[in-house]
Amino acid sequence: MTGDGVYNGLKQFIKGRMVLAEPMSKHTSWRIGGPADCLLEPADRDDLRLALAYARRHGLPVAVVGNGTNLLVSDKGIRGLVLKLGPGLGELDVRAGAVYAGAGVPLPRLANRALRAELAGFEFLAGIPGTVGGALLMNAGANGCSMGERVSRVDALDLAGDELVFTKTQLDFTYRKSCLSCRKVIITGALFSGVPGAKEKIKSRMEEYQSRRRSTQPLELPNAGSVFKNPPGDSAGRLIEQAGCKEMRVGAIQVSPRHANFFVNLGGGTAGDVMQLVEMVRRQVQERCGLKLLMEVQRLGEF
Ligand SMILES: Cc1cc2nc3c(=O)[nH]c(=O)nc-3n(C[C@H](O)[C@H](O)[C@H](O)COP(=O)(O)OP(=O)(O)OC[C@H]3O[C@@H](n4cnc5c(N)ncnc54)[C@H](O)[C@@H]3O)c2cc1C
Repeated sequence: MTGDGVYNGLKQFIKGRMVLAEPMSKHTSWRIGGPADCLLEPADRDDLRLALAYARRHGLPVAVVGNGTNLLVSDKGIRGLVLKLGPGLGELDVRAGAVYAGAGVPLPRLANRALRAELAGFEFLAGIPGTVGGALLMNAGANGCSMGERVSRVDALDLAGDELVFTKTQLDFTYRKSCLSCRKVIITGALFSGVPGAKEKIKSRMEEYQSRRRSTQPLELPNAGSVFKNPPGDSAGRLIEQAGCKEMRVGAIQVSPRHANFFVNLGGGTAGDVMQLVEMVRRQVQERCGLKLLMEVQRLGEF
């Protein structure tokens, strides 16, 4: 079997939505990205396992995405099978002070569930638009807290579809990084622990964090959050501003006038534009501030 035939063969085994030549711009918060050969939204874990087994049998490359909120997909798109984890892996249970969340659970939903259960420690997630899977891979964080601090166990599958279980200590969570990114695994869910807290206090912290985001981030335009990681003890946004890069622009991609570490898509921007702007900003910051910025946004596809 070649081309579309191999993907149509997969369709008969799975229950989830499958689309061929799907523009990834529909699945990234930047609204950028060429076509994925085949995008599959698994209906459940069995679907995911079946898809992995099928991909292995037919030698198809596999990529995984969540909400695409920290992702730059190439203008040429992604070859192979793209697994988008969402509601099919959306279980969310609270038991005895612990929360189990599937990889596809949106972070604000996890934060709201913890609030209802009067568990503190998840407030920082309220305004982060990713999923549990993407956030664990990235060790997403804000307001002095990160995923690695709350998680106690991560469930995953390897590319052969075999189940893996990691304890927190095996994963070595550091700033925007964990060992999950070096091991080609698909995160399926995780167990988190909270701290008992008063509902009103939890709620007011969530509201405060969200209102701060609304006033400091350009949420009205497509973006992917912070483009660069903060260097130790400093802020990438401050350095970009100091280097005079605010409002710098390539094509339709602009360094946001509101938050210099956010690059906004003014309409029709491409991954090529983003990468050119990344290089320009990086060069200017290095020349003027003597620091090399590292990208936080993950790239997928051919660059
Ligand atoms: C407006 C805005 C604000 C943001 N604020 C913050 C913030 O405060 N703090 C912060 O840390 N981030 C922030 N982000 C970035 C982003 O939301 C987080 O990094 C988020 O955790 C990414 O989750 P995602 O589901 O969108 O992952 P994606 O962008 O889809 O993927 C990110 C990476 O994770 C991998 N991945 C995704 N799901 C899985 C899985 N199940 N198993 C294995 N790998 C997987 C992908 O292959 C990719 O490499 C912000 C983004 C935006 C647009």
